[in-house]
Amino acid sequence: MLKEKVAQLLNEQINKEFYSAYLYLYFSNYYTEKGLNGFANWYKIQAQEERDHAMLIMQYMQNNDATVTLEAIEKPEMDLKENIDALKAGLEHEHYVTSLINNIYDAAYTEKDFRTMQFLDWFVKEQGEEETNASDLVRKMELFGTDPKSLYLLDQEMASRVYTAPSLVL
Ligand code: MG
Repeated sequence: MLKEKVAQLLNEQINKEFYSAYLYLYFSNYYTEKGLNGFANWYKIQAQEERDHAMLIMQYMQNNDATVTLEAIEKPEMDLKENIDALKAGLEHEHYVTSLINNIYDAAYTEKDFRTMQFLDWFVKEQGEEETNASDLVRKMELFGTDPKSLYLLDQEMASRVYTAPSLVL
């Protein structure tokens, strides 16, 4: 059985990951409306990854006989003016998610819950990658986003992203 505090934080994280998926779908829709279909594709796939994160945590809790409660998902709403705004908000959001994962890890460590720590190791690594990807996108948009030809090529690069299932198997 998972300790109450750890189970509570994991349950909250399921909701946060679904919110992440929702936020990235919001960005995807925003870029679709702006005609940047590559960026729309990139965020649509990112949303799929976030849903996977939620499902993995849900499965982990179920495997450990913890009760899962699915709460309401917050409505994503942002004032996006420039092409770079969603990318910056995405980076900020990933920093926030990293702090949440670290917080669960800290609770598991305190409880000597080594199984959950090992489960979370994958998420710690994943967050490192998410932050790198999000930060790369901001940098690329800063460098190339103001030139229409470069933006076109960047959008094409974003269009080439394909979905791959998570490497973590429970
Ligand atoms: Mg995630």
